[in-house]
Amino acid sequence: MSGYHPDEITLMDYSAGTLAMPQALAVSVHLFMCTHCRNQVKQFNNLGGELLTLSEPRELEVQGFDDFMQAMDDEPVKPEPEIHSRYENPLAALLPQPLDRITWRKQTRDIAEYDLTDKLQVQGFRIALQKIRAGARVPQHSHKGQEFTVILQGGFSDELGVYHEGDFISRDPSHRHTPTALQNEDCICLTVLDAPIYFVGRFYRLLNPFLRW
Ligand SMILES: [Zn+2]
Repeated sequence: MSGYHPDEITLMDYSAGTLAMPQALAVSVHLFMCTHCRNQVKQFNNLGGELLTLSEPRELEVQGFDDFMQAMDDEPVKPEPEIHSRYENPLAALLPQPLDRITWRKQTRDIAEYDLTDKLQVQGFRIALQKIRAGARVPQHSHKGQEFTVILQGGFSDELGVYHEGDFISRDPSHRHTPTALQNEDCICLTVLDAPIYFVGRFYRLLNPFLRW
């Protein structure tokens, strides 16, 4: 199981369907690899279902808290939904080939990208797969908005930790970081940005995808 997860608010928003679609994609890719968060979302889903049931007209007939609780106990037990046993990696539907065969666009000697922004057709977000050569370092940068990253292969480290396959990392404007891919294999991540990132120090034109906006 991965060591870094979306926070509870993000999982609740995911369950309620109020996350923006690209961010929901990042969460669902993490869920594919994380039993812990799948179970948590399942609980939120069940809770949401119960609240919906209780808000139906039958609720009006209930008198007082005890009756209310009794009514909840009397609810017939529904079988557990099976959705997670059939959970499929949501990225598979977006990629023309398996991850190891897609055509990367080289940005530098160490970094390549596969852009998914156009496929998802959602305004205001940048969605891409990024591949960092084993042991290579991404120039230090900060964010204007929020960046969700899910590691699909390998791992990287930055000033705040070491991350491995399946980990979900959220960064906001208070963070400046310099990710460095782990030595053993190339690191492939899904990244979802809701605002430009700014490289700090030297101007890395090629690395700033938002220059195309
Ligand atoms: Zn998780």
